[in-house]
Amino acid sequence: MLNLVLFGPPGAGKGTQSEKLIAYYQLVHISTGDIFRAHIKNHTALGQQVSQLITDGKLVPDAITIAMLEEEVKQNPQAKGFIFDGFPRTVTQAEALDAFLTSKNQQITAVIALDVTQEELTNRIAERKKLTNRPDDDAEKLKKRIDEYFTKTIQVLPYYEAQGKLDKVNGIGEIDTIFADLCKVIDSL
Ligand code: ADP
Repeated sequence: MLNLVLFGPPGAGKGTQSEKLIAYYQLVHISTGDIFRAHIKNHTALGQQVSQLITDGKLVPDAITIAMLEEEVKQNPQAKGFIFDGFPRTVTQAEALDAFLTSKNQQITAVIALDVTQEELTNRIAERKKLTNRPDDDAEKLKKRIDEYFTKTIQVLPYYEAQGKLDKVNGIGEIDTIFADLCKVIDSL
């Protein structure tokens, strides 16, 4: 099984590249952000619970996020592998994911971090805001999400580096060039 974590700050291109990777490698894409947004749209109990936090750009508590992620993996027993996008965002989530996969005799194959400068991120999210109208894409909320990334989420990188599982790919440039670079890393795993 190929189990990848695609890692990077808001706007790094995780969603775009995940779409291409799942098609090419026949993987199941699990984006915790997408799942939360679907819950909010469908007015589920979970959606109501997390809606304000997400609008404010804050992280959803680990227990809720981990339970939701495990449920999603369980719903795909035939998967050849997964791309985890937006998860894990904390070391607690990373530890929970390892424990969960170990219990299924699986593991994370690699973590690929998309490297993008802060300036490029701000520009991209301003563009995305025009197209998608995500309520968490305005300047102040965005700043909060980028802060959450650089204070909490970034701590996940040394966790995987210590396991020898971390690879970095330049996330600035043509979408297809970045995709080719990702494929090179994955094919060498
Ligand atoms: P971004 O495009 O900013 O990377 P996502 O679409 O991945 O954002 O997630 C949107 C929001 O959903 C986050 O700002 C956070 O509130 C919540 N969220 C998503 N994944 C997680 C997670 N693993 N842990 C906690 N909160 C999460």
